[in-house]
Amino acid sequence: MTATETAVRTLDFFINGKWEHDASRALHPITNPATGEIIARVPYATAEDVDRTARAAHEAFLKWREVPVVDRVQVLYRYKALLDRHADEIARILSTENGKTLDDARGSVRRAIQMVEVSCGMPSLMMGYSLENVSKGIDCQTIRQPLGVCAGISPFNFPAMVPMWMIPFAIACGNSFILKPSEKVPLTPTRTAELLEEAGLPAGVYNLIQGDKAAVDALLHHPLVKAISFVGSSPVAKYIYVTAAAQGKRVQALGGAKNHLVVMPDADLEKSVEAIIGSAFGAAGERCLAGSVLVAVGKVSEPLLHVLLEKTRAMSVGDGLQPGTEMGPLVTADHRTRVMGYIEKGVEEGAHLLCDGRELALEREDGFFVGPTIFDGVQPGMTIAREEIFGPVLSVVRVETLDDAIRLVNGSRFGNTTSIFTGDGKAAREYASRIECGMVGVNVGVAAPMAFFPFSGWKQSFFGDLHAHGRDAVAFYTEQKVIMSRWF
Ligand code: NAD
Repeated sequence: MTATETAVRTLDFFINGKWEHDASRALHPITNPATGEIIARVPYATAEDVDRTARAAHEAFLKWREVPVVDRVQVLYRYKALLDRHADEIARILSTENGKTLDDARGSVRRAIQMVEVSCGMPSLMMGYSLENVSKGIDCQTIRQPLGVCAGISPFNFPAMVPMWMIPFAIACGNSFILKPSEKVPLTPTRTAELLEEAGLPAGVYNLIQGDKAAVDALLHHPLVKAISFVGSSPVAKYIYVTAAAQGKRVQALGGAKNHLVVMPDADLEKSVEAIIGSAFGAAGERCLAGSVLVAVGKVSEPLLHVLLEKTRAMSVGDGLQPGTEMGPLVTADHRTRVMGYIEKGVEEGAHLLCDGRELALEREDGFFVGPTIFDGVQPGMTIAREEIFGPVLSVVRVETLDDAIRLVNGSRFGNTTSIFTGDGKAAREYASRIECGMVGVNVGVAAPMAFFPFSGWKQSFFGDLHAHGRDAVAFYTEQKVIMSRWF
């Protein structure tokens, strides 16, 4: 397919309160995945750009940390109001560069705004504690202080929400921040940065650079960067964790996933299938919480597959901006090729292809589409049962008992999320207790924690100890100090 160009915008970095345009930089195209059109061009930051940004952010931090937290959050209250006012515009930009449906994009912008709302509570969240007379005449208190310059590196699939797991928490705590978003979706973070500037944040407290591995490596090695928050695939998460920790930095690195949805024979089939379809095919499977393996327990397999196939075949796939679309395209042509490769691998390894998304890919040449795909007869050792596909491909594994299901799920090297569908409270309780995943859904297809709870992957889905958002974010972006006082 030849990409055509209309209204192509050139993006800039936002450093020390200024939008920096440098016409000499090489530019990289950004494509609308539903049409194949080039919609923007983005420059990539060099190590020198990162150094300049980190120095400016450090200077800004020295002043920002002195601003009382009650005043710091006033900026976030104004930011929230601006995000509310521009939510639909942001969702449209997001859908255009990422491909997800407008409704889905709106939902993710709403989640992003909730992060700002929760961060507005920082005067309470950041409180320490104290005890009078820990020894005769001696009082003890703990306080939380900001770290300095913090950096965030985010993935392509949630360009509004994932950076907000980091930015409002970090700056409300008194840090300055540098975001390096995914080079595939730079437009949404550009718009949300413009609004943060409009909210009146002092220059240098928030900085946006664009780029790839070179910019990331410069952040990982920069002595003024004190903490790294990463969200992306597991191999990169592990690399970030190891590299940044070796530099003495605080790190939280959220990785990829292979999520199992377990259906018990007593599950409500209609409601469960709706949730399963939303989980497996929503956002074209490009979610770290997407259901990817459907574990059918006992005699539920046949009726479950009957309802599932009927509803899946009725799905409308197309441009996410068009009303009525239930699933959009994949983010890039390369990613579509990768997902198609997994479907071919599933066929080669002997799984039964019940619904073949490659047919749609052949039909549609105007974007990066793959239709919803379902494999039955998948064995736990097959590639499609083990590896993260990050596309609309659902593998059905049939097992006999709940114990078999738990063994299968716990055998995965990932541990992001899982869900069980059942009418039996005892089975649900046992599953939630024994399963080795950080986030568990009971009759919920996408168990995404709200902003005031932590986002808690396990195993290869997370490297670090303090998770994203909620109280964990406050602990991550602050250092604790214990003060013992005696007055003569
Ligand atoms: P990715 O790992 O390719 O990229 C993520 C970020 O890392 C981007 O900003 C990218 O520029 C940078 N990067 C890529 N390769 C790098 C390298 N070799 N060295 C340094 N930096 C590098 O991920 P993606 O394709 O953008 O996003 C999809 C992945 O993110 C999936 O695996 C998904 O499961 C995961 N994800 C996880 C969560 C979670 O909460 N655990 C949330 C969203 C997405």
